Amino acid sequence: MSERTLIKNGIVLTQDPALGEMSGADILIEDDRIVSVGHGLAAADAKVIDATGDIVIPGFIDTHRHTWETSIRTSAPDYTLGAYFGAILDQFAPKYRPDDVYAANAWGALECINAGITTLVDWSHIMNTPEHADAAVKGLQDTGIRSVFAFGFPNTSIQAWWFGLDYGGSVERINGDEARRVRRQYLSDDHGLITMALATRGTNFCKPDVVRYEWELAKELGINITVHVAMDRFGYTKMQLRALKDMGLLYPNTTYIHSSHLLEDEWLMVRDSGSNVSLAPQIELQMGHGWAPAQTAEKLGIPVGLSSDVATTASSDQFTQMHAIFASERGRRHQVSWDEDLDGNLPTTDLINSRQVLRWATLDGAKVAGIADRTGSITPGKKADLVIIDGHAVNVAPVIDPVGAVVCAADVSNVDTVMVNGVILKRDGKLIGDLSGPRRNVMASRDYLVSQVPAQEGWIASLPS
Ligand SMILES: [Zn+2]
Repeated sequence: MSERTLIKNGIVLTQDPALGEMSGADILIEDDRIVSVGHGLAAADAKVIDATGDIVIPGFIDTHRHTWETSIRTSAPDYTLGAYFGAILDQFAPKYRPDDVYAANAWGALECINAGITTLVDWSHIMNTPEHADAAVKGLQDTGIRSVFAFGFPNTSIQAWWFGLDYGGSVERINGDEARRVRRQYLSDDHGLITMALATRGTNFCKPDVVRYEWELAKELGINITVHVAMDRFGYTKMQLRALKDMGLLYPNTTYIHSSHLLEDEWLMVRDSGSNVSLAPQIELQMGHGWAPAQTAEKLGIPVGLSSDVATTASSDQFTQMHAIFASERGRRHQVSWDEDLDGNLPTTDLINSRQVLRWATLDGAKVAGIADRTGSITPGKKADLVIIDGHAVNVAPVIDPVGAVVCAADVSNVDTVMVNGVILKRDGKLIGDLSGPRRNVMASRDYLVSQVPAQEGWIASLPS
């Protein structure tokens, strides 16, 4: 006997180009799937959720988050990228125990669900031991979130794992046997709730033989690559795509994270290889990577996913990312008109708009995560990954343009209901289930990790639990 749910009378922003935006619409869900979307749907045996005056969207997709850093949330509010490498990856990461990874992944995934993120790409470069990998996967599994577990490299000593070409020393490879084990043991089903990717470092971060090994490992495992590129102006992440091209490693469906300083020919390489970008605008602006080049990608038809990157330094929800990209990409265009003394009257076609931003946070994000066949839009046949935004809230009502309401007005507090794979994980503004255990775990993890590194100015001396 299948279980049916009918979401009634909502303002439904399907993100499906064929279905568009509908008001007073219903969504019928059967088990884990969306069955139909339309007006006046009837289903006598269905559980009904009244969405009158509320806004229904496909769940947000966070296309790149180092979820293991949830334990050390906001420990580094003022850091630039360079400071981050030294403090977070050099000092905190080697201290992580499997329990810390478990606590952080579970709490980070719960944070996602609470914020309406139904798919999380967990960029997990904390594979310090096999037990760390087990803990990371279990942390995701225990919450019910949809995720792409991007298996990365250990962070036991930054010099051994990131640099080496220009900085001396040798760079270690991802543990291929471990990646194969995780693929076999947990993530062999490419249609499961958790699927697998490979989180690599790439050209200029590693010597060519290491790069080739990791790219070929991804091909052997049949999984997509996600890699940080062109993310600073120091030089070593510049021209990484040119180097990949020279090595014959421009694979399709690769996610190029940040891409702040890609050169023109490199943008064409992203497009022509059938790949995509993940932009973390709040982090990129705040930490100094560069502008988040969403408009450049959009004009080339390259899917843009938004991402939160690191909880150490900014908030990790998609409302924050939408605000950051909307303001920064328009701000850059406004600057041109100010400089040209055009009174800000650039043609509006040169400005990104709220509907693009919402698509990036949902459908395009699903393309970036490689799972747009099953999520990212409210489309019959896709998995039921849905979010209901409270249209009556004090910061949302009255609704006139519902996309404007989601992109410009709403925040995490307005996420009323979250469904992943047909299962309700948040209802009436509250996560389902007891948070006390996961909260206790992550606070204990914080206490331990903070005790293992030199205290920073601004940290409180005794930690409340
Ligand atoms: Zn990152």
